[in-house]
Amino acid sequence: MYNTGRNPDLLSFAFPGLIEEEILNIGAEQIPYMRTEEFSELVLDSERILKELIGCDDGKVIGYTASGTAAMESAVVNYASKFDKILAINGGTFGKRWKEICNYHNYSCDEFEVDFGKDINYDQLDEFINKNKYDILLCQHHETSSGQLFDLNRIAEICRRNDVNLVVDAISSFLTDPFDMAKWNIDIAILSSQKGLNLPPGLSFLVISEKALKRGFNSNNYYLDIEDNLSNFKRGQTPFSPATTLFRQLHYRLSKLKELGIGQVLQIVDENARYFREACANNNWHLSAETPSGCITGFYIDNGRKICNELIKDKIYVMPSGNERLSRISHIGLQNKEILNILIDKIKATQNKLLL
Ligand SMILES: *Cc1c(COP(=O)(O)O)cnc(C)c1O
Repeated sequence: MYNTGRNPDLLSFAFPGLIEEEILNIGAEQIPYMRTEEFSELVLDSERILKELIGCDDGKVIGYTASGTAAMESAVVNYASKFDKILAINGGTFGKRWKEICNYHNYSCDEFEVDFGKDINYDQLDEFINKNKYDILLCQHHETSSGQLFDLNRIAEICRRNDVNLVVDAISSFLTDPFDMAKWNIDIAILSSQKGLNLPPGLSFLVISEKALKRGFNSNNYYLDIEDNLSNFKRGQTPFSPATTLFRQLHYRLSKLKELGIGQVLQIVDENARYFREACANNNWHLSAETPSGCITGFYIDNGRKICNELIKDKIYVMPSGNERLSRISHIGLQNKEILNILIDKIKATQNKLLL
């Protein structure tokens, strides 16, 4: 069978997916002290590689020991102010989160609603932004609840023309779909360790462009304060205790990505996504997204939730969703046709069993 490392009978099609053994092994090592030159150099080298991979040569990176939502919250409270006119694109669970964060902090935020699993009507968005003169647009590249990938070429062009600052949650598209901050004039991109980076959860990042650095920040948060984090990151350190092990795993992952090239990684994700979608077509499992990201395949299947629960008994993890019929599988991490076949066969067998 496929070698999935330390526990070979576990198959994960949930985030972060199956992680390669070298990275799992780093997680099993003793933890070196982090207030050292060695750790600083590891952090600074990670920043250099990340900026290169994401197309942000002149910007800065900060990393929080926190999940992705903390980085979303940080971008809102540090980059926007109560005087800014904010618009958020809401096409599902993650888009809705922008407005919730804004409400929590008493920032006013308008929403541009997009039907679940559908692409944005870009002409309407353009008109809406032009009419209302927003300062900041908050959006996802990939709305992970449905699998829908939005077109950043179009969004970026609208922002450029209307002089709107652009904050993009690329948590579930970086390393699964082409993503380039410079090309799209993105002010801040948000990342998290447990998605495309295929690492354990616990680290999230803001990649901040030179343009955003020039615009400047507010100080509306203690732990997440961007200025404080930036001044520490400049010397490869964090204001508070970092998740040392995760940073070491991150450095290994990024070094390897640099060696392989992003093209290679995207190609593997794409091949797996295509292969699974072919099986969906053959079995009449309808896809949930109009233009799907490489990151996940969302598909409607009778008894979807029940099937997910049945598979858990065999240590096969698939992601359910709010809709009982909608299941989602991730294409991140170790995956190939052989293990996808195991999954597809298992889903079909379970589906038949439940029909009896
Ligand atoms: C996973 C995810 C997040 C962050 O969720 P956390 O559980 O806080 O890590 C944010 N946005 C998108 C698009 C995601 O897929």
